[in-house]
Amino acid sequence: MRNFLFLALALLSGSVASAQPQAVHRPVKLMGSGFELTAIHEDEGVANAAIDAGIAEIRRIERLISSWDENSQTSAINRNAGIQPVAVDEELFQLIQRSLKVSGITDGAFDISFAAIEKLYLFNGSETTLPPPEEVARSVAKINYRNIILDPKKHTVFLREEGMRIGFGAIGKGYAANRAKAVMQAMGIANGLVNASGDLTCWGKQEDGREWGIAIADPDDKMKAIAWLPVGEGAVVTSGDYEKYLMVDGRRYAHIIDPRTGYPTTGIKSVTIVCPDAELADALATSVFVLGKDNGLALINQLRGIECLIVTEENELVGSKNLELQYEEIMERRKE
Ligand code: ADP
Ligand code: MG
Repeated sequence: MRNFLFLALALLSGSVASAQPQAVHRPVKLMGSGFELTAIHEDEGVANAAIDAGIAEIRRIERLISSWDENSQTSAINRNAGIQPVAVDEELFQLIQRSLKVSGITDGAFDISFAAIEKLYLFNGSETTLPPPEEVARSVAKINYRNIILDPKKHTVFLREEGMRIGFGAIGKGYAANRAKAVMQAMGIANGLVNASGDLTCWGKQEDGREWGIAIADPDDKMKAIAWLPVGEGAVVTSGDYEKYLMVDGRRYAHIIDPRTGYPTTGIKSVTIVCPDAELADALATSVFVLGKDNGLALINQLRGIECLIVTEENELVGSKNLELQYEEIMERRKE
């Protein structure tokens, strides 16, 4: 549901006198999806250079974490599943370490080793059946984050069983957004935004000095806003891509796999997480899909500074505790 959230004020443009901070927006295809980097600065040259650097950083990360690129370290880890540990860069090692931490707090709902089952699904709308149960059983047996063995001394990663695989589809874009932001900040951009295909992180203020915020679109009419959430500085990440799904017997399955069953999740249309960190938000959005509405909310309500908004299959909108104010507003507007 990539367009479910959009930055209403990012759409505003206007003539701005020179030497005033000006927003430079750059749409760009990265990691197989549409990104947009925004830098606000009085010098357009500085803004453009920072955006260039942000893009280069995301491309670098893509080369590191892609499981399709045979030359990536991630592919080397996968190729050596059940064979031997693979020495990797500190950066990848730490990303895996953080991924395992999220697996811990979500009780395995988030699991980068879900990728063992990836080949059984296309999620391009063409599938009309679920894969055969025996095949699902065989692949799901390979999913277990506890079998991802990290050796901090040797800096190696070992997938304990043959047939295991890891993939960063649910955390990579959030990580990339964080890194692009850091690179742009280091180049003097005090106000900006990175939209990694619906995973947003913003800092500072908008070009007119107002706080960043997001308009929440009506699930049934993307052009209609039903609520406004002030974000200030932080990340807003939405999971639930309408382009990637499975439709079987009239039931819609998301492109997110329940690591316990090996089947795609149902029941939730989209999850939006608001928190300071885009990477954590990305991982948690995916996790809530797997956990389902009730367990997902229970988890988010335990985490300080993290909020979530869920749209269920029945178009019910449910928010975490501190989102209640805005939630009331959403419900009011929906009645209009
Ligand atoms: P979106 O693509 O809408 O941003 P996510 O951030 O939730 O959605 O990422 C979905 C991707 O995460 C899937 O395409 C797949 O690569 C990966 N994935 C699927 N199930 C899981 C899971 N249980 N744990 C971790 N990653 C998953
Ligand atoms: Mg995610």
